Amino acid sequence: MVERVETLIVGGGQAGLAVSHMLSRQGSPHLVLERGRIAERWRSERWDGLRFQFPNWSVQLPDFPFPHADPDAFATSADIVAFLTAYADHIAAPVRCGIEVRRLSRRQGGRGFLAETSVGPVEADNVVVATGPYQRPIVPPLLEDAVPLFHVHASTYRAPEQLPAGAVLVVGSGASGAQIAEELMRAGRRVHLSVGHHRRMPRRYRGRDLIWWLADMGLDKTPVARRGSDRALPLITGAYGGHTIDFRTFAQQGVALLGRVVAHRAGVLEIAGDIGQSLAAGDAAYMGFLDLADAHAARHVLDLPEEPAARATLPDPPDVRDPVRHLDLGASGISSVIWSTGYGCDFGWIDLPVLDARGEPVHRDGVTELPGLYFIGLQWLSRMNSSFLSGVGEDAAHLAGHIAARHRR
Ligand SMILES: Cc1cc2nc3c(=O)[nH]c(=O)nc-3n(C[C@H](O)[C@H](O)[C@H](O)COP(=O)(O)OP(=O)(O)OC[C@H]3O[C@@H](n4cnc5c(N)ncnc54)[C@H](O)[C@@H]3O)c2cc1C
Repeated sequence: MVERVETLIVGGGQAGLAVSHMLSRQGSPHLVLERGRIAERWRSERWDGLRFQFPNWSVQLPDFPFPHADPDAFATSADIVAFLTAYADHIAAPVRCGIEVRRLSRRQGGRGFLAETSVGPVEADNVVVATGPYQRPIVPPLLEDAVPLFHVHASTYRAPEQLPAGAVLVVGSGASGAQIAEELMRAGRRVHLSVGHHRRMPRRYRGRDLIWWLADMGLDKTPVARRGSDRALPLITGAYGGHTIDFRTFAQQGVALLGRVVAHRAGVLEIAGDIGQSLAAGDAAYMGFLDLADAHAARHVLDLPEEPAARATLPDPPDVRDPVRHLDLGASGISSVIWSTGYGCDFGWIDLPVLDARGEPVHRDGVTELPGLYFIGLQWLSRMNSSFLSGVGEDAAHLAGHIAARHRR
């Protein structure tokens, strides 16, 4: 038996649910298949202490604001799971959980697509791939298994107690690496943090949260065509009430800062001497943002208190003035490594001519050249906020509109 649907949505996270809502609003029949549970990645691929990086007041899905007691607080992963589950109920999303799409190909001899799932085939005129912006953990092949260390990717890190006693090396200084390093440092661990390229931003400036500034300046909606060469998303944290990440402050609190890890031989890591450059690039991004915000405030005569202290820079710590180039794991007492080295995509199950040489989908604002095939939720799909929870609604509306127009034709 082959099941037929007009539109199949693959993935039951925020993106799949938002598309489902938009299709329901226009009366378009569809089905959502989710291999795990609704919001599975918020349940099983986030650490316990993670806080949503956006303040409660800014969190919303189409026609469904986030319920909260404190507008300026930051939600837990459990809060986000509850929100997404409530959303699925509210919009009566036709989701079937525990069903994986294993292969997607063209329907034989006809238009549309064939999805081979863990419970049988489904044919669809349209398919919306909503399987997430962060699908496959990337772990660089730097430490061969022979090294007796506990190592996990950030997606499987849970809490400090999970790690054996001893110092921890956190590799990567994006949102995950910075937040995990801080959590471990606060838990009393000796932390070595390998810092690479990052775009740190103020958590709050002149009395307003970064998310307020991004929205007021329209930067969260920067279209992909004006993205520029730097793909990095803002480095911020909502943990511990939310504060600006400054790696020099981390150093003052006892974190050992390192440059990028480039090689490993016999228990000794070779470290690039680039920590100074990485911090300088992070500072430049931060100061550039303050300049933009000040110019915006002046242009629009915003009545916001000046905050010159936000421009104060701590002196470089010794780790930066005289960078460590070799780190002996044993002598440093390092027993664990957390790879906060990012994610790649995993579209190997899509057997259609829609992926580029790196395996990434070719599309414009989520619409591919294969009629009826769409992507949503990817980083910079159409705008800066395409992969953010509160930003996915506009892309969902755009794709639903495209599907409706296609059927009218
Ligand atoms: C550590 C971390 C923190 C983040 N914090 C924030 C934040 O504070 N604010 C914010 O706005 N964004 C944040 N994000 C980014 C983004 O909001 C999340 O990644 C979010 O989960 C993306 O939602 P999604 O629906 O696009 O994809 P996902 O949540 O990844 O959902 C995709 C779903 O597809 C399912 N799936 C995958 N393959 C198949 C298949 N073949 N068949 C069936 N089902 C399949 C998966 O099980 C999953 O449930 C964070 C991301 C990470 C990694």
